[in-house]
Amino acid sequence: MNVILMGPQGSGKGTQAGRIGPRLGLTQVATGELFRAAIAARTGLGRRIKDLYDRGDLVPDDLTIGLVEEKLDEIDRERDLGEGVGGALFDGFPRNREQAKALDAALARREQAITAVVRIDVPLAMLVARLAGRRVCKRCGAVYHVEFNPPRADGVCDRCGGEVVQREDDTAEAVTKRLEIYFKQTEPLLAYYEERGLVAAVDGDRPIEAVTEAIVAAITRHVPSANAAVSPTAGEQG
Ligand code: AMP
Repeated sequence: MNVILMGPQGSGKGTQAGRIGPRLGLTQVATGELFRAAIAARTGLGRRIKDLYDRGDLVPDDLTIGLVEEKLDEIDRERDLGEGVGGALFDGFPRNREQAKALDAALARREQAITAVVRIDVPLAMLVARLAGRRVCKRCGAVYHVEFNPPRADGVCDRCGGEVVQREDDTAEAVTKRLEIYFKQTEPLLAYYEERGLVAAVDGDRPIEAVTEAIVAAITRHVPSANAAVSPTAGEQG
């Protein structure tokens, strides 16, 4: 099973991916998260993309696709080792047509395909409010909001104890650019997946727990076998 979470910045993809992945046995593939880790570790890739990232521009497709391929190989290895991995949960990828085609090809080479695309709908005014107050853990990437979902201790991650900070690209200018790119390049991808009957829409303007349940229900409707993967005990983090 391979699922894409699709929605504009601030729609809650990262928050929901962190909750749904463990619940359905899916490994999160969050390209933004992978880029943040590369920037923090000052790897060659990190140094190359930092300025683009801070401005809110997209990282070039070849670099992004290469990173996703590495992640897919890692998931395949874990699956082969019998580590209970049921597939990938994409968050922030694909973001344009080129990436969507590359993802289809990469999955086809592995005799797999996209099984569902969940569109998370949130009104624009709410997106902006969420992004302005968003904070993330520098270490594990957990997502918080100063008002709607604060960590228990100020500035400290509930999950790993890491430092909780504002993202470099959550400035007003970068947010405007990122939303523009989303509506111009990413949203049109929904038609690409709709043609294949893969898209389910979920109202994301509700409490975090309600959105999680709606997404799990949507995926389960598309992929009845996902039901069997639903763990009754997991999924209560973040
Ligand atoms: P996100 O955390 O998904 O909002 O991504 C943060 C930033 O990482 C974006 O503004 C881009 O600079 C970069 N990025 C993340 N995913 C992609 C992608 N699929 N393609 C190109 N750039 C990306």
